[in-house]
Amino acid sequence: MSTERNTFSFSAIVGQETLKTALLLNAVDPRVGGVLIRGEKGTAKSTAVRALAAVLPPIRVVDGCRFSCDPDDAAALCDECRARSESGPLPVASRRPRFVDLPVSATEDRLIGTLDLEHALKHGERRFEPGLLAAANRGILYVDEVNLLDDHLVDTLLDSAAMGVNIVEREGVAFSHPARFILVGTMNPEEGEVRPQLLDRFGLCVEVEGLASPGDRVEVMERRSAFEDDVTAFRMAWAPQERALELRIATARGRLPSIHAPRDLLFLIANVAADIGVDGHRADLTMSRAASALAALEERDVPDAEDVRRVAPLVLAHRVRRKPFEDVSFDQMRLDSVLSQSRGEEGDGTPSPDSRSGESPADGAASARLAVLGRAADPERGPAGDLSERLVTPLDGTRRSGDGRRQETRSDDKRGRYTRAETPRPGQPVDIALDATIREAAAHQTSRSGDMAIRIEPVDIRTKVRKRRVGASIVFCVDASGSMGVSTRMEATKAAVLGLLVDAYQRRDRVGLVSFRGDDAEVLLPPTSSVELAQLKLRSMPSGGATPLAAGIKASLELLDAESRRDAKVVPWLVLVTDGRANVGIDGGLGSEDARTMASKVREKGVNSVVIDITEGTSAVSAARELARLSGGDYVRMPRVTGQDLSGAVRQRLEAV
Ligand SMILES: [Zn+2]
Repeated sequence: MSTERNTFSFSAIVGQETLKTALLLNAVDPRVGGVLIRGEKGTAKSTAVRALAAVLPPIRVVDGCRFSCDPDDAAALCDECRARSESGPLPVASRRPRFVDLPVSATEDRLIGTLDLEHALKHGERRFEPGLLAAANRGILYVDEVNLLDDHLVDTLLDSAAMGVNIVEREGVAFSHPARFILVGTMNPEEGEVRPQLLDRFGLCVEVEGLASPGDRVEVMERRSAFEDDVTAFRMAWAPQERALELRIATARGRLPSIHAPRDLLFLIANVAADIGVDGHRADLTMSRAASALAALEERDVPDAEDVRRVAPLVLAHRVRRKPFEDVSFDQMRLDSVLSQSRGEEGDGTPSPDSRSGESPADGAASARLAVLGRAADPERGPAGDLSERLVTPLDGTRRSGDGRRQETRSDDKRGRYTRAETPRPGQPVDIALDATIREAAAHQTSRSGDMAIRIEPVDIRTKVRKRRVGASIVFCVDASGSMGVSTRMEATKAAVLGLLVDAYQRRDRVGLVSFRGDDAEVLLPPTSSVELAQLKLRSMPSGGATPLAAGIKASLELLDAESRRDAKVVPWLVLVTDGRANVGIDGGLGSEDARTMASKVREKGVNSVVIDITEGTSAVSAARELARLSGGDYVRMPRVTGQDLSGAVRQRLEAV
């Protein structure tokens, strides 16, 4: 929860009109369904969201309610308020809605709430300990890097957001409370995509970019330093604009119930959604709500075609149907042509886009092509820290336990699905499974005494066994040296990378590519789950020159090390495409010797590996086979390598049961 005093002013944010509009539409009508903000780091994303919370009009709440119940909505009261209301009218207080930050590492208990263990043990009563969903009720729930959130948390979050209620039924507690919030997620497409199912559940989506105009950039700097120099003075200076904006939101909210989209506008919306090509009906409903909210925000009583034109990119960009590899972005031209066609067909007499003056917040988006695509950014995300030291810890130990197979792995960090309970092993941190613990204790109650309602002894304690789906991180390490067949080899590898990424969403896999040529290795693609990003980065793949095989393996291991620091459970895979011959070593060392040393490191680090031998002809002695032996991995001969064979060889090993 933010202290408003230290928050930047929403009105003081320079540019980013599309983002501001998307946030304001949700402020006017939370049923618009939240915003997914895509963009690189350092682009005012979280600043804008925090600042929005500070201009949301105050709400009336039941005083003392842990769930911020609305005293004017008797039907949506929490169980506690319902009980209280039976003995008289509920006390009312007024305060600003909260800004709640959901960290990516949050546990399920933290999100949905849990049984208050202390209370249960002391008083023998079940009492619910609220989680972040409770704190966020009627406010903003903010998830930075929502694409990195665990699947089961995402499902819980979206279910609550859709129903407006959090229902907890576990550990013998059944509890429900209202959970209506504006869901705002941010993501950097460089870090991997959001599952398509999740994408569609966000009402609006905006792509945020840095500002291009030098004038704007200077203004950003000036306002930033004014803010940092003296927060109080800065907020005072912007207070009139902030209060005016707050009033505008409050007025729009008041106006909203009387705003109804005319039937011909609904036809227009349906035509647009169908023509642009989106599945389901969620987009239609969102577009209609967003158009009404925009009209309300601009003090008009009837939304029109121009409102639809302005909100459509926000609603449709992330919902456009596309096939893998299809380079699709949302196209304003297409939208405009659909709109004018529909208008022609319907003859509904709604004003044309030009007939109303005033700025159009979505215009910037139109010219910037509200792309669904991840954009290229600096591939500077290398592994941090000293490789030789860091590599040993995260990759050792359990790495091999799954034979490199992708699976649901036991999770020891309180993340993941609770599957069963067991007696804790000595030294193991206890993630208490209350249901199982109480069941265990229940059997002994008659033989125990004390002032507790239920007497639990250490032997009763059971710990939760949680399972979490983990993906594989697969790094291809490819010989890009020489000239014979190198371009075929590179194309085949690219095809294999893209092939493996097509359904990476479901499997949580990430794929990267390192090439080695000349005197060093190059990370062409840091591990990603994004097909779009892979396509973009692998557009050109330089080849030719000498063969620094050892440097290639070293760079690959560094990437995999970074991957396991990101998620200790990830299954690391190295796919080495080589003939095993190396003529350049590391720091002037002997090429072949350094390569063998690095191959042994692969085994030491517990990285799973496959060596794809591209040696032509039939030679009994193969340097590549020797590397496979040293790295402890599989060996596959593939003199004429194709993308399909390559991805097939990898997939087969990942899926092997
Ligand atoms: Zn309540």
